[in-house]
Amino acid sequence: MTDLLSVTPDAARTALADWLAGGAGRAGAGHAEPGYRVTQLVPRLWQRPAGSWEEATDLPAALRSQLAAAFPLGRLTLATTQLSRDGTEKFLWKLADGEAIESVLIPEGKRRTLCISSQVGCALGCVFCATGRMGFRRNLRASEIAGQVRELVLREVGAVPTNIVFMGMGEPLLNWDAVDTALTILNHRDGFGIGARHITVSTVGILPSLAQLAKRPEQFRLALSLHAPTAQLRHELMPIEKKYALPDVIQALTQFRRRVTLEYVLIGGKNDSLGQADELAKLARPLGALVNLLPLHPGGAPDLTPSARPRMLAFERRLKRHGVEVVLRRSRGLDISAACGQLRVELEARRKVRPQEHARVE
Ligand code: SAH
Ligand code: SF4
Repeated sequence: MTDLLSVTPDAARTALADWLAGGAGRAGAGHAEPGYRVTQLVPRLWQRPAGSWEEATDLPAALRSQLAAAFPLGRLTLATTQLSRDGTEKFLWKLADGEAIESVLIPEGKRRTLCISSQVGCALGCVFCATGRMGFRRNLRASEIAGQVRELVLREVGAVPTNIVFMGMGEPLLNWDAVDTALTILNHRDGFGIGARHITVSTVGILPSLAQLAKRPEQFRLALSLHAPTAQLRHELMPIEKKYALPDVIQALTQFRRRVTLEYVLIGGKNDSLGQADELAKLARPLGALVNLLPLHPGGAPDLTPSARPRMLAFERRLKRHGVEVVLRRSRGLDISAACGQLRVELEARRKVRPQEHARVE
């Protein structure tokens, strides 16, 4: 049976209408007025999410239990939250199979940006990244990606976030099918209705899925994690350079037909010289890209150091002098390790809570 939370709202509507009409002789179906019922049910997926069908008490009891049997609504379980002094809040979610992921809510004036995960861990092993050090565990389903937003709404932590960034755990473009569907759910009027310009996919530049993303008609934003202005240095920091080389990635960005952001984490003595700023400007200017300079979070890489503040400011000034639009970001949520690149679920701690499984394996 269709997992209604892992398909687009349109596909969910079709599956529900079919089921209500008694299509294919499904048990418990054959309801009267399926058209009317569908308009009652679809909003309970995303717009006014129900924790379970049993909780949707505006529906007849018999229908609720049939729905619960046919279309169980999967949940993420909140394991812990941590609130930073600056208002940033980190959520650790347990998934049905015992894996865990994190999301981070960053309030900023009227904006509430939710940073979401797309995979459990990450296979790409960028040297500065805490998630990379976990290694890859598995892809998230669309229900688990969009579910990070759904759970927030269910918990009444507040309304739907105003902005979404795919900058949590994982490489979204290595989980394209689920991310593709999740983008629709986030943006669709029967989903969360978040404007495409307020949804940012961050990637190291996985070329085949980048082409797929570029094909979508909505104006989703793209952030490319660049971090190095030359292929040689990028190779040192990001093993993916071997597979998708810098010139090809930059070439793909010129095909994107939308303004892109280049993410650049400043690492002391590695990529923060003024000569490197000049090189970066040579890439950014023809693209008309916005450069986002980020302080390195040392939690991701004990052997690397963040650039000193004066060095960051000088790097920023140099880019500006080249006519590049640039923003030097502040660190948020540092005290709770909640910034991008800091997300890393402690596997050891998790093993401890599953001692029986261990016993069985041994
Ligand atoms: N895999 C995707 C998205 C998740 S990482 C990507 O790499 O783009 C989200 C952002 O956090 C990326 O720009 C990544 O480079 C950055 N990041 C990773 N480790 C970091 C660290 N230690 N300090 C600051 N930013 C980091
Ligand atoms: Fe993966 Fe992004 Fe971390 Fe690189 S920076 S290891 S791609 S999550």
